[in-house]
Amino acid sequence: MKKKYETVIGLGTQESNANNVNKRIRLLNTYCLIWGHLILFFYALEIIVALVQETINQNVITFYFFDYKLFFNYFFIVCSLIIIIFINKNHHFKWARIFFISVFIINNIYFTLIVSPGNYLEYYFLLLSPISLTLYSKKRVSYLILTIGFLLFLTPYYFFVVYPTDYVDRLLVLEALCIFLVIHLLVNYFKESNVKNEKLLALEKDKVLSDKMILEVQEAELRESIEFKSHFFVNLSHEIRTPLTLIQGYTNQLNFKESDKENKQKTAVIKEQCQQMQNIINGIMDLSKMDNNQFQLIRIPVDLNSFLEKHFINFQSLFTKKNIEFTFNNKTLKTTILVDEDLFSKAITNLLSNALKFTPTNGSVAINTSFNNEGITINVIDTGIGISKEETESIFKRFYQVKNDITKSQGSGIGLAFTKSIVNAHQFSIAVESSFGNGTCFTISIPKEFVNSTINQSSIKPPEIFEIKKTMFIEQPNISSINKKQKILIVDDHELMRKYLKKVLQNYDITEAENGKEALEVLQNNNFDLILTDYMMPVMDGKTLVKKLKQQQNKTPILVLTARTDQQGKLSMLRLGIDGYLHKPFLEEELLINIKNAIALFKNITEFDKDNSPEVLKNLNEYADKFNMKITSYINNNLNSPLLTVDTISEYMKVSRSTLNRKVKSVLGQTVNQLIQEARLEKARNLRAEDPFATKKQIAEAVGVTNTTYLFDKLKERYGV
Ligand code: ADP
Repeated sequence: MKKKYETVIGLGTQESNANNVNKRIRLLNTYCLIWGHLILFFYALEIIVALVQETINQNVITFYFFDYKLFFNYFFIVCSLIIIIFINKNHHFKWARIFFISVFIINNIYFTLIVSPGNYLEYYFLLLSPISLTLYSKKRVSYLILTIGFLLFLTPYYFFVVYPTDYVDRLLVLEALCIFLVIHLLVNYFKESNVKNEKLLALEKDKVLSDKMILEVQEAELRESIEFKSHFFVNLSHEIRTPLTLIQGYTNQLNFKESDKENKQKTAVIKEQCQQMQNIINGIMDLSKMDNNQFQLIRIPVDLNSFLEKHFINFQSLFTKKNIEFTFNNKTLKTTILVDEDLFSKAITNLLSNALKFTPTNGSVAINTSFNNEGITINVIDTGIGISKEETESIFKRFYQVKNDITKSQGSGIGLAFTKSIVNAHQFSIAVESSFGNGTCFTISIPKEFVNSTINQSSIKPPEIFEIKKTMFIEQPNISSINKKQKILIVDDHELMRKYLKKVLQNYDITEAENGKEALEVLQNNNFDLILTDYMMPVMDGKTLVKKLKQQQNKTPILVLTARTDQQGKLSMLRLGIDGYLHKPFLEEELLINIKNAIALFKNITEFDKDNSPEVLKNLNEYADKFNMKITSYINNNLNSPLLTVDTISEYMKVSRSTLNRKVKSVLGQTVNQLIQEARLEKARNLRAEDPFATKKQIAEAVGVTNTTYLFDKLKERYGV
């Protein structure tokens, strides 16, 4: 009901109108509504009173009370009011208000002189000037209407005399004029002060809006500088990682005689310092990932006991060295949790490193796990230096360090902030309890839905990534058993790096290339068992090289060495269909295993190709091509719809959501959501390039994204535009 009234009141208002015009239009509609309701109310009242009177007097209802004059008058007013609202609705406010004032005057004259003369109804003319003040902004008009109102008020006394002469004689014209004027001036005063306030408010609003704009500009600048910082970190770390890999690699190869204790000690220091540097770089990279929200959790079912036991074993010797009692009490045996193993491992490692750092010799540290009503808790408890109550609030903030002797020389204040981000990204929670001087207890709570007892077994089926990991460790052929050396092409602009890799891969037949372009030339006349390429290189980078090779249908397995640990970098490479990547610095062992696995896998595939008739292979390829075509054309045709989701696609492809995800991942190497997002971003980028005048909103709509800011943030993240 209220909504209906509001709609009627708003009829005729337009956004293009000035604020005060819209206000007057509303007022006029409101007057019409009030007057209409009053009339209906009075008419109903009159009928009831007449009915009651007739019943009491005669006991018969004669309908003589029905006063035609009155009825037609009311009817005339209601019709007029409807017409006024209609005129207003058609944006003729000026005519509507003239009509309204005229109806008001005519109606009053009619009542004062014809329907009910001598009943002081002329006093209604007192309302005329306040009404005109609210409907007209020009002072002249309101004074003119005031005069008309006053003259009309005098009509029954002087022009059509309806009162006895002695009453007319007693009318004090001057006093009456005073009342008219006072009412007019009072309403005018309130109107003026209201206008003044509105102007002030408008000024304030403008100020707030301009402040908001300044803030938005500053926010954009800040975001830009954060992005710059993040890129700077990524590039810097690339620069540092390459020499660091070389230092670590060569240090590991140094062989000293048993007696050469001094050099052995020096090497140990170099190794330790390298490790420290690596930790700092990793911390910086983690931080930059945190800034960019680049957490893409890949949850897999992890056995809690073996997961924590692994960490327990890793830290045991460090605690023993410091003479700290280290225990692991697991009350949740045979429990599986759904976590991103790598990330969650970083969180636990951070807590244990802190316990090790902040617990003095002869103290004790424990990892405890237990069930509770909400799920599972993991506690890392130490009897270390503790944290004061005021500071427990702040330790999860980035770069926050409690000032003490230990933090003076160690740490950066990133660890706990990163740990908390990881825990939150998992939808778990972390809390700390501490007593200064006595010890600290960190508690990670894992809700039931991520613990195996409440998880439907089918829903915790390991994702493809997990399966891929498993397949990578299939039986490997022993290199020594192969007579002919396998051939590897190393593509890296860093001469020292190439030399180092050559040394590590001495069991292989190595060819070198300085960049992608040179590699392509070498590949024209030679076949290799594997290509090992750097990601960032001058002339032609690793990504372009891989793209070109894929275009040439070159099936040689490719491993990429990269300093980029960000998801975008990884994804863009994986999307090209490489066989794996290694982060610099890497372990020699890790590199050798990856190379072995990639070559073996490739051999298996070629054998599979050999074993199967060309018919079967053709069918398999055709199936993949068809699937690829079907899904990509559906996505491209429906890109402008915000309803394009995994569900709509699975409905179209007539497969379940999980089957679709699995198939897409195996054929296209991406999840369905990544596929949709990628297509949207690509189309948005093309639209931008095709039509530089297209607004952001138009582009967002064309690619089915409702949140324009989100789309353009993603575009910037993806293409740097
Ligand atoms: P960092 O260890 O690099 O200084 P963190 O973010 O890991 O940074 O920790 C932040 C601060 O919290 C530390 O500086 C330390 O003062 C305090 N802290 C963390 N863990 C403990 C602990 N187990 N005992 C005492 N203080 C701790």
